[in-house]
Amino acid sequence: SLELSRKAAAVKPSSTLAITAKAKELRAQGKDVVGFGAGEPDFNTPENICDAAIQAIHDGFTKYTPASGTNELKEAVSRKFKSFNGLDYAPDQIVISNGGKHSLTNIFTALINPGDEVIIPAPFWLSYPEIVKLAGGVPVIVKTTKEQSYKLQAEDLKKAITDKTKAVVLNTPNNPTGMLYTEQELRAIADVVVESDIYVVADEMYENLVYGDQKHISIASFGKEIYDRTITCSGLAKSYAMTGWRIGYTGSSKEIAKMMSSVQSHQTSNPNSIAQRAAVEALNGPQDSVAKMHAEFDKRRQYMYQRICAMPYVSTIEPMGAFYVFVDVSDVLGKDYKGTKIEDTSKMAEILIEEYNVAVVPCADFGFADHIRLSYAISLEQIEKGLDRIETFLKELK
Ligand code: PLP
Repeated sequence: SLELSRKAAAVKPSSTLAITAKAKELRAQGKDVVGFGAGEPDFNTPENICDAAIQAIHDGFTKYTPASGTNELKEAVSRKFKSFNGLDYAPDQIVISNGGKHSLTNIFTALINPGDEVIIPAPFWLSYPEIVKLAGGVPVIVKTTKEQSYKLQAEDLKKAITDKTKAVVLNTPNNPTGMLYTEQELRAIADVVVESDIYVVADEMYENLVYGDQKHISIASFGKEIYDRTITCSGLAKSYAMTGWRIGYTGSSKEIAKMMSSVQSHQTSNPNSIAQRAAVEALNGPQDSVAKMHAEFDKRRQYMYQRICAMPYVSTIEPMGAFYVFVDVSDVLGKDYKGTKIEDTSKMAEILIEEYNVAVVPCADFGFADHIRLSYAISLEQIEKGLDRIETFLKELK
């Protein structure tokens, strides 16, 4: 038979989406499942944003827009970049896309020639290596350690750079770890990037979800040399509970923005016109609903962290951003559960879903096989119930 695309065949299906689907299936069978797999806020999109979309429909704002997004939205993003991130990106340096994933696809399409290497620190959000491969690049995984709070060290970056390296991916606040890079850490990485003349893909999708005293810092804000080598990527999905609306954006040099917008003009044309209007309201309108969601996430985060710290065989570092807790379960592996040996985190996840109705994300596909990810984008009540069940499971281990 005719051979299909090797590039497409090499792509793994998203395991997080599979876990969500499994939990849904069990729920449909009437099981009381607690799903810690969620990658999206459990809140509704704020009403003022929904109203702006409805108004856009009534206004007939239902036609093609410029392929890289409306000027109105680019101006709103430009203002946000300035006031929130301390970054100067003029509207013609901004490309609006169909979600953060699409922005990342555009970025790697614009940067990569066949065989170019992209350094991805592990643990990583599972889509990065797949998107890089689809763009013809070679993902180079650099493993971090728990002692480093799972953050890429400048010296390890330096060691991983070859003459094929095109870019490094930096995700802060981080999925799956919930960690934030400090200014000092980012400056050290920026120095290596400038010295080695590579690009940084700064994925700041969770920038609004930062807890405690530490602030979110954008690596491109440190000066012209690093600014010129950074593509900053973010979106509306996580900050404004707008996952289904599909709006992401990038700030980059004009040259890269122009390339991405040409690519996008052939592949998808503009992002949904109605969602673009809604995004303008999200960025320019009142931010009180964002503050409310933030406060609720923070409450859950603290509760979860304390509970997990008190459980046997597992440990975690206090997460300071996004809505995930990254749990080290290496001491669970090799233990016996009612006569079954727990060989890996998939087995652990299987027992948890089948015997305890709890869905968790094993992190092998995130480049960290002895950890699991728990999301707190579910109600405190659900979290409490789910953690009770996990604790019962852990107490069964021998
Ligand atoms: N970047 C990170 C780190 C993410 O976790 C996600 C979503 O899970 C995205 C980007 C993409 O977000 P979206 O495509 O929904 O805008």
